[in-house]
Amino acid sequence: MPRYEYRCRTCGDTFELNRPMAESAAPASCPAGHDDTVKLLSTVAVGGVSRASAAAPAPAPRGGGGGGCCGGGCCG
Ligand SMILES: [Zn+2]
Repeated sequence: MPRYEYRCRTCGDTFELNRPMAESAAPASCPAGHDDTVKLLSTVAVGGVSRASAAAPAPAPRGGGGGGCCGGGCCG
């Protein structure tokens, strides 16, 4: 059963719930009993490839530095 992470906007607490996927969008109450909770996008370990690529450095060397082969005439 997948595990979902929720955050309570009333007390700011985060908690996890094990519930079926069909109930992932169902409202969840925080351990303190608040109903104003939001579901967080946690990394689900069951066949879900949701890798955040926003923080990747990804150095993209731009041409013009003399390091590129293409453009210099040597590869075409
Ligand atoms: Zn709460």
